[in-house]
Amino acid sequence: MDPIQGKPSCLMGLRGKRDGSWLFVHQNQRNKGSGMAKRIQVVEKILSANDRLAKENQQRLDKAGVFGLNFMASPGAGKTSLIEHMIQRLSDQMELAVIDGDVATSIDADRAAAAGATAVQINTGGECHLDAVMLHGALDELDLESFDLLIVENVGNLICPMSFQLGTHRNILIASVPEGDDKPYKYPGMYRGVDALVINKIDLLPYVPFDMGYFRKGVEILNPGLITFPLSCRTGEGLEEWMNWIKDALREHSRTKEPSTEE
Ligand code: MG
Ligand code: ZN
Repeated sequence: MDPIQGKPSCLMGLRGKRDGSWLFVHQNQRNKGSGMAKRIQVVEKILSANDRLAKENQQRLDKAGVFGLNFMASPGAGKTSLIEHMIQRLSDQMELAVIDGDVATSIDADRAAAAGATAVQINTGGECHLDAVMLHGALDELDLESFDLLIVENVGNLICPMSFQLGTHRNILIASVPEGDDKPYKYPGMYRGVDALVINKIDLLPYVPFDMGYFRKGVEILNPGLITFPLSCRTGEGLEEWMNWIKDALREHSRTKEPSTEE
């Protein structure tokens, strides 16, 4: 984290990009100028440009009647495995699209496609999070009207993805037992901002030191009442509750957001 306002350090050195009216700051400017006050201003400008485009992304999803989820987690928590299960269990009831974000390779999008979903891979080329610009480009690759649910798999990282809203409707965090029970305490920003929490790999509870009470206490302090789904992608335990929540959330969302009524 950068000491300034607790913003992730990657925000301070975004690679330069100019896209219409969006101003992105070139890396070589990061140490120029008069110091702190200016740097704070720059960070806020990047974030508000991102938020504006995130809003536009959400309007596109709403117009097409697509419910969007942003899956965040550390690498190896099981985001892709959970997505595979969702494709297998939900595809007969809804049309699913997946957008995968990774530094390199199309391994995850290949897995989602093999499981039966339409999948688009974003390679960030080193960037440790997805942002609204990247999602905007990926949305162009999908015929949005033909989907009900969009799952965006963010880059595996517990720090900065939370700072970049994408325009999805729900932020989901996937934690996993082998990561350890101290993660809410060490990455509070991530736990604070999410709408639902999955605790994956509960089949490993007998084999690793993980105090569920301590973990949940940390979550409760940061995000009181957060809905939580302990499950195992390996044994299938808890998956049904998760799928039901997704189906309910999708139904509720389509009730409140009538498709094609946006101007
Ligand atoms: Mg993955
Ligand atoms: Zn980042």
